[in-house]
Amino acid sequence: MIGKMMHKQLTISSLIEHAGRYHSETTVTSVETSGEVVHSNWGEIEANARKLASALERLGVQQGERCGTIAWNNRRHLEIYFGVAGAGMICHTINPRLKPEQLIYIINHAEDKVLFIDETFAAAAGQLQAHLKTLKHVVLMGPRNEAIAKKVPGILFYDELLAEEGEDYLWPELDENMPSSLCYTSGTTGNPKGVQYTHRTTVLHSIGGNQPDGLALSAKDTVMAVVPMFHVNAWGVPYITASVGSKLVLPGPNLDGESLVRLIDDERVTIALGVPTIWMGLLQALEKTGSKAESLTRTVVGGSALPTVMIPTFRDTYGVELIHAWGMTETSPLGTLNQLLQKHQDLSDTEKGSIREGQGRPPYGVELRLVDETGKKLPEDGVTQGELQIRGHWIVDTYFGHEESALTADGWFDTGDVATIDPDGYMIIRDRSKDIIKSGGEWISTVELEDIAMSHPGIAQAAAIAARHPKWDERPVVIAIKADEALTEATLLDFYEGKVASWQIPDKVIFVDELPLGGTGKVLKNKLRDSFGGILTET
Ligand code: ADP
Repeated sequence: MIGKMMHKQLTISSLIEHAGRYHSETTVTSVETSGEVVHSNWGEIEANARKLASALERLGVQQGERCGTIAWNNRRHLEIYFGVAGAGMICHTINPRLKPEQLIYIINHAEDKVLFIDETFAAAAGQLQAHLKTLKHVVLMGPRNEAIAKKVPGILFYDELLAEEGEDYLWPELDENMPSSLCYTSGTTGNPKGVQYTHRTTVLHSIGGNQPDGLALSAKDTVMAVVPMFHVNAWGVPYITASVGSKLVLPGPNLDGESLVRLIDDERVTIALGVPTIWMGLLQALEKTGSKAESLTRTVVGGSALPTVMIPTFRDTYGVELIHAWGMTETSPLGTLNQLLQKHQDLSDTEKGSIREGQGRPPYGVELRLVDETGKKLPEDGVTQGELQIRGHWIVDTYFGHEESALTADGWFDTGDVATIDPDGYMIIRDRSKDIIKSGGEWISTVELEDIAMSHPGIAQAAAIAARHPKWDERPVVIAIKADEALTEATLLDFYEGKVASWQIPDKVIFVDELPLGGTGKVLKNKLRDSFGGILTET
């Protein structure tokens, strides 16, 4: 009884081939480094990706070699995602806001052969070049530019490279377990670590993360990826939108609220994805410009905890649903997404809103568990806090260039987050284990303290940190940006009364004009600890 199904490799080229064939006319909008808005489509993206693949082969780049990018979210970057991986090379996206020594470390560690750069980074790339041991080619993502050609000797020009290629390149048949892209963690402590995704993990993440109760991006959507393409593959959005043929909007370098409002209105964006600081900027800009962001129906918020006040503001004023998601570089990144269940359908908006404040549930393809410090499994009762561990089809096993697996003896990845999970599988991140405040042996969640501060109308943004304390080891200190100049420390501290146990109320509030943000828009708490960690012990 012979019977057999076809076996097709799960490759990244199959995603872009599908988009090119079945969604060829669907627009890809790109804001260029110059600010110009260019309209391309999936057909052109696919054709250019094939030309790029062919050009890379002509330059002598081999399958399995890494090509780095230091670039904004734009159409050439999208073509590089598919062209590099489709040809069997590895697309290594690099966070441009890293310090020069970190950039040098990462590019050398990845042994990048080619570096694609946007014009913004040309001068910096020129200065780094002498330290980059494996680099053979620097490619400016644009047409020929004589001024840059003089500054960066030997630089190639993306548009010229593609212009030399014909239309006849065919994607090679690749094994789905071959690596396809590489991202480094931000390395706030120690050197950054690389996570190397494969074609298979990327395709499974694209399908698993985009279920109706996941991101649910569709061919009817206009999707704006505000999350940078160097931040965990823009959370998979380039691959997912190719797989379903959404209209895609790539916002380029300016991610301020007003630029985003303009793009949402001009391009009729239906869903946008980014970190909470982006949405705070957007809310301010909506108020200022009077736009109602009428086309927008959903935003996906992740990367750090969603300030809970944002849920009713977006819902009631703009009719926008917030989907809270959690993940990390090591998890491709989608680990959980917050959508409601059938049994929640008759709840009030407020009740639904409170369920949706948490980070949500795992899609098919990943599993979560909580353990204590000895590795013992903890109950999922919504109350017990433990170390969050994860396993699944798109989770790291071994960091790039490391010998040893990053997993526990029984095959789980320890996230470094402290969480609770309820009996329905809804997970809430209580803190990062390195941020949580340990006061007299008890834990205080910085996430909770920040959320309370940000629910006060006089506060624009807040971060809580552990400050050293002679008696309690650590005590909470809140560092905040005011929205109302008249607000005082005493008023904000009073505001905590009744919202947390009295011993969890911060010892001090420090008002600042700015909080230090990392390249992906998250508050750098280690920097705040360096600045303010001693504030309670100073005399
Ligand atoms: P880094 O923040 O170090 O640059 P990642 O982007 O991989 O690198 O960050 C992953 C971490 O971000 C998670 O372990 C978690 O602590 C935090 N995080 C991500 N999403 C959320 C979320 N929705 N709520 C709270 N924390 C989050």
